[in-house]
Amino acid sequence: MSKAVRIDRNGGPEELKIVDVEVGDPGPGEIRIRHKAVGLNFIDTYQRSGLYPFPMPLQLGMEASGIVEAVGEGVTHLKAGDRAAYASQPPGAYSELRVMPGRNVCKLPDAISFETGAAMMLKGLTAQYLLKKTLPVEGLQPGDFIVFHAAAGGVGLIACQWAKALGLKLIGTAGTDAKCQVALDHGAAHAINYSKENFAARVKEITGGKGVKVVYDSVGKDTFEGSLECLRPFGLLAIFGNGSGPVPPFNLGLLGAKGSLYVTRPTLFTHIATRESTQAMADDLFAVVESGAVKIPIDQRYRLEDVQQAHRDLEARKTTGCTILTLD
Ligand code: NDP
Repeated sequence: MSKAVRIDRNGGPEELKIVDVEVGDPGPGEIRIRHKAVGLNFIDTYQRSGLYPFPMPLQLGMEASGIVEAVGEGVTHLKAGDRAAYASQPPGAYSELRVMPGRNVCKLPDAISFETGAAMMLKGLTAQYLLKKTLPVEGLQPGDFIVFHAAAGGVGLIACQWAKALGLKLIGTAGTDAKCQVALDHGAAHAINYSKENFAARVKEITGGKGVKVVYDSVGKDTFEGSLECLRPFGLLAIFGNGSGPVPPFNLGLLGAKGSLYVTRPTLFTHIATRESTQAMADDLFAVVESGAVKIPIDQRYRLEDVQQAHRDLEARKTTGCTILTLD
């Protein structure tokens, strides 16, 4: 048996219920893992609310670390007793123990703690594919400016540090002056409080009127138009989230009028569709974390039983960096 967090219908944080679930043996390609810590992600709120629909009942959670207890037929990269961490579909990480596909589960290097592993896989692999695989036609070179919205958040603070390590000048946005300072402390070259300032005008000012090659936008509805304004000709807008709600339909002609712009809507799960791509990206993430160039900021910890409060705080923009759910 395992304690787990489940919803029986879409709705607010009050729908998150602690239940006991049976956990069996892993089938072909599967593993059974006993979690040590669980990562909280904004995507969990979309799955809870119904913005990203799933069949009910749904055990939430996309990221965790733990110890492998058993592996099913065909799983060769892990064995019982291994320390491991993952970002993976389908959801189910909000639990003590689970059986899941082994494909996205990676061995966790000894130098990386379980808490760090749980906090960094989904957010860190996202920062990896955004900064290294979601690029403008002209590519990115050291010294280039990029804009990264919600820069003091989980993905944001990893991106601030990683961009700096790559020599990029990241212009971060955040909702308060205190959060702007946090982004600067983690390597952002500039930070703009987009609750107070017109961020597009400020980006133009910082870049001497040129604009940037890429805007990484997880805020969505509220920032979409301003994000297009930040781009230089042939620039790329990567919309990878819906913090303020999804971007409504728009006239493609806008992209021509603003300078042959590109828009993409990437998701991590295309990038980690195979074991090989997952491991290659994870190795890159492990290396940058082990080198110390990227430190995983765990700014909030909640007990699994307090998951409702964790969701409330995340949606109320009260958190910075990464959040984990702890297991007794
Ligand atoms: P964050 O820690 O970044 O939390 C979300 C942040 O969004 C808030 O802290 C807040 O920062 C900002 N925000 C702006 N407007 C709103 C609003 N109206 N309501 C709530 N928050 C708002 O979360 P994560 O690090 O878990 O994820 C960051 C984003 O990246 C999410 O949108 C997520 O869905 C997306 N994502 C996408 C992936 C993909 O592959 N497509 C994978 C992983 C994450 P502030 O107060 O500073 O504005």
